[in-house]
Amino acid sequence: MALIVQKYGGTSVGTIEKIKNVAKRAARTKDQGHDVVVVVSAMSGETNRLLGLAHQLAEIPNERELDVVASTGEQVTIGLLAIALTEMGYKARSFCGFQIPVLTDSAFVKARIKKIEGETIQAALKEGMIAVVAGFQGIDDTGAITTLGRGGSDTSAVAVAAALKADVCEIYTDVDGVYTTDPNICADARKLEKISFEEMLELASLGAKVLQIRSVEFGMKYGVRIHVRSSFNDNPGTIVTREEEIMETAVVSGVAYSKSEAKITIVKVPDKPGIAAKIFKPLSDANIVVDVIVQNVSVTGFTDLTFTVGRTDYKKAMLVTGKTAKEVGAEKVVGDDKIAKVSIVGMAMRSHSGVATKVFETLAAEGINILGITTSEIKISCLIEEKYTELAVRVLHRAFDLGNPVEA
Ligand code: ASP
Ligand code: MG
Repeated sequence: MALIVQKYGGTSVGTIEKIKNVAKRAARTKDQGHDVVVVVSAMSGETNRLLGLAHQLAEIPNERELDVVASTGEQVTIGLLAIALTEMGYKARSFCGFQIPVLTDSAFVKARIKKIEGETIQAALKEGMIAVVAGFQGIDDTGAITTLGRGGSDTSAVAVAAALKADVCEIYTDVDGVYTTDPNICADARKLEKISFEEMLELASLGAKVLQIRSVEFGMKYGVRIHVRSSFNDNPGTIVTREEEIMETAVVSGVAYSKSEAKITIVKVPDKPGIAAKIFKPLSDANIVVDVIVQNVSVTGFTDLTFTVGRTDYKKAMLVTGKTAKEVGAEKVVGDDKIAKVSIVGMAMRSHSGVATKVFETLAAEGINILGITTSEIKISCLIEEKYTELAVRVLHRAFDLGNPVEA
């Protein structure tokens, strides 16, 4: 007998029919003799609707109250699911975040979990109940309701699994696992059987939107085995787990891309100590996250400095940088918000040489110009013109042999 946490996202509980389907799945697991905790999101579209209501009243609604509103979507689904289970003859009990409690800090709208008390849920399980837990919700020291940021139910589920020392945290979603790349771009994209937390973190932060990044961080920290799978079929999905559990690591596990990038270049900056600090301090003060930074070596005492920001921050970043550029005596600032980032990720990259060369040669062969490069131990990212994104993903996917074997 195992303790299984199952998390169902908004699309899996989007209608009454789908809620019944989730109830059937949870019941089936219970019938197999396991203890079952189900964590659910709000019905698809509901959180957006709730936030929309608040925004009709204020351009920037009070965040404490915004969380009071946004968190209600999950309260509806736990109640409905518990009713569905009871109707099927199972014992079920719903839990809001504050009833467990899921203790968080007070950063409304993006709160972080500090602690989860497992006793309330444990007690319900002992009584033979299926515990139905609201994702996304928490409570702070003062008793205020908090939410964990968009997509936060994933993190709720993994955190609950960690607190209860569950055997597995199954994340049910509308795709049946983590793929080597976006199947919409490469028809031969292959479902990965297993992937390490580290690789998943890189893929998630690069725009493979299957799991909220923080849930993967949580899983890694507490060693929670995560199984990403579809709620619409019984196919095994992808296991996200410790590296040691993965027998054969491919050099490259996947190709990710992100089209939400923008690039800013400061032309002819006087190359003096302290210049980078002067340029990036105002950006961090404005809460703008800078990603790739490229600075060339100066021969004449001047340098060009290029960096990327999220596209939604582009205008703000251009304004801030324009000001700084004047102050430091740079020639001008130019920007481009039509760029993309294509990345390859793989644990075994650490011990293999020639991976970067292969990436560069592959892109060059298609005439794709690389506008900037960053690397980590297990990742190589290239900035390219946005219009080449799909082509770049396809050729890299092929170059590293990631696809399903072609049938003869
Ligand atoms: N309902 C929340 C959202 O839409 C949390 C979640 O679905 O994970 O972001
Ligand atoms: Mg989600």
